[in-house]
This record gives sequence, structure tokens and C-alpha cells, in this order.
Amino acid sequence: MLELFLTNPTELQLRTVDALPSPKGDEIKIKTSYGGICGSDVSVYRGKLPHATYPLRPGHELVGTVIEAGPQASYPVGTRVVILPNTFCGECDLCLKGHTNICRHKKSLGVNSNGGFSEEFVISSKFALSLPDDLPDEKAVLIEPLAVVVHAFKKVNITKGTSVAIVGSGNEGMLASALAYYLGAHVTAIDINPKKLEIIKSIGDINAVYPSDIHDETFDVVIEAAGVRSSVEQGIELVKPGGAMVLIGMTPEANIPVIQLVRKELTLLGTIIYNFPSDYQQTIEYLQDPNLNISPIVSKIVPLTEYQSAYESALSGDYGKIVFKF
Ligand SMILES: [Zn+2]
Ligand SMILES: [Zn+2]
Repeated sequence: MLELFLTNPTELQLRTVDALPSPKGDEIKIKTSYGGICGSDVSVYRGKLPHATYPLRPGHELVGTVIEAGPQASYPVGTRVVILPNTFCGECDLCLKGHTNICRHKKSLGVNSNGGFSEEFVISSKFALSLPDDLPDEKAVLIEPLAVVVHAFKKVNITKGTSVAIVGSGNEGMLASALAYYLGAHVTAIDINPKKLEIIKSIGDINAVYPSDIHDETFDVVIEAAGVRSSVEQGIELVKPGGAMVLIGMTPEANIPVIQLVRKELTLLGTIIYNFPSDYQQTIEYLQDPNLNISPIVSKIVPLTEYQSAYESALSGDYGKIVFKF
């Protein structure tokens, strides 16, 4: 079978390896149908993610069909599934409180354990969720990245009429714009790249602007999805008194104007991935509704053999989601 393999940062190859052994215990073997390239795949490729380990098979936004099942597997052969690429132990104090997203023993597929940019892979069926028949694979490949936004939005109240600013229009920022718009919010999306702003505008009636276009306006909720210091610092300025900023981006550090935070009674919230399966289930419900317009966010669907151009597009930062079709 074919798999992508990263020997070291930037040393990416497509190689042929032996067929995988049969699944054991609760494992399932999956024939991959679609796999999305994430911002973190780009960071792993560049060697910019501190907890990444090499050599590594990348890829974690994965959808496919069970083609072989171990004796204790939760799903029979033929089930279409989406993967949970961040494992959890289910036993540590944080898991027992329901915070599987911050499990003390978490492993991340495609970051510090082998991912699934391969024609087939084997995984515990604990880390898979079956898909409803009315959700096609090409939409289901967005479950994992959209679940990050669904989880983040649970920290605040975004509803009809809420004013929301989304700082950064990468994949997560675009998905956040689409979901906030779907929920009836007045959405302002901010990015420095005009190509990204064009994509955002095709989602719906969203105010897509450069950072310098924002002057005195403030917002009930700010979502920081750029992961750069300046956008965190601008983001705080954009929060209305009594409002909140949710941070999805991973900025190592930024200046927090504490007196402003105190006097305006602002709330800053960190958020990481999602809880499983609740956030995945909620995300599937959203994706089943055709009123959630996410189709402009998928910029390219390319075969695995064209991995070089797919990675180049993702690295350029000029596109929405780039998806492999296996
Ligand atoms: Zn991802
Ligand atoms: Zn745990």
C-alpha cells in the first residue's frame, strides 16, 4: 500500500510498504477515503511543532470504511467512520472529569504517533465514530477540524445577533466564520491575506477585512485563530466591555494589558481540540444541515500521488482546506 512518510522535517515522500497486519482486539482496519491537510500538518512538515516526533506518517483528519475488524471491535466491516486522532486513556483524573481533550496521556496521530495519510491504517475502534448515511465522506472529512470550533464556541454564547470577530482566516478561522454565521451572529473575519478574505466572502454575508480596517469597533466575542502575537494583542482591544476572547491559535506568548482586562471585566478563554464523542456528534448534526455553508472552505481535492502540489498549496497559505482523495 501507499503511504506518505516524513523522515525529518521537510523530507516528505510517498512510499510503498507491506500490507498491514490484521487488526487485533478492539482494532479496526480502515480503507481511507479522504484526509484533510491541517495547519498542524504544515507545522509538523516545517518542524515547527515542539511535540512532533520523527520519522512519522502524517495525517489526522481522516474518514474511511472499516475493511477488517478485530474480535472486540465496536464496528463491523463496511461501517463508514471518522477518526478521533487524539487518544485519551479514560482513566486519569482529567478523563474522569470528562476532559478527554486534555488527557494526561494523550497521543496525537500524525504529530507524535503515526497518522493516516495512507491507503489503509489500523486503529482502536474506541477512536472512531460511525457516520450517518446522509453525511457523505467529502463533508465528513471536516468533522475533526470543525469539532475544534464547536468545542471553542461552547465556552461562550454565540447566537442570533451576537457580534463576533474572528481574527485569522486559516482553516479553523474559516470554519469559525461559517459556523458563527450559521448561528445568526454578525461576523467580522480578519486576515492579512486578500485571497482568504475572498473565500470568507463567498460563505455568506460576512464582513471580511484587513486588521487595519478595524478602528473603534468592538465585539461581544472575539475568536483568536491566527496564532500570532499581534493578533492576540489586537484581539484583546476588540473585545467589548464584559465580553470574551476565545483563543484557538497557539501563540507562545503575548502582552496582556491586565488593567484593561480588569476594568472592562473581560474573559480570556483557552480551548484545545474537542471532547469525544459529544463534540463530534454535535459537529455531525451541524454538517447534516445544508444551511451551514462550508463548501467554499474546501479549496482543492487532490489524489495522494499529487502530495507535493497538495503540500505546496497548504504551505502557501493562500487556500482554504486541501483534501486528499485516496
Ligand atoms: Zn487538524
Ligand atoms: Zn486520560
